[in-house]
Amino acid sequence: MIIVRVDRWLCTGCGLCVGPVFALEGGYSAVRPEFRVDGDLERGLVPMSLLENVKRAAKACPNRGITYAIREEGQS
Ligand code: SF4
Repeated sequence: MIIVRVDRWLCTGCGLCVGPVFALEGGYSAVRPEFRVDGDLERGLVPMSLLENVKRAAKACPNRGITYAIREEGQS
């Protein structure tokens, strides 16, 4: 799984990260509801099949608002 984080404080709502993982909500980027951790707009757990999208979103963000880390299976 991939742990993703979007910092809505840094986000300017440009929309470049919008795709299967992130969507604009209230004018700023948020993790899509199906991936959220504890309903938190800023934190998510995403399957490895979406790694390319997460990488692109993180790279596209002009404000470095998106970060991610890969969690090896079996780790808590
Ligand atoms: S690319 Fe960055 S600044 Fe633009 S909407 Fe996404 S998180 Fe916000």
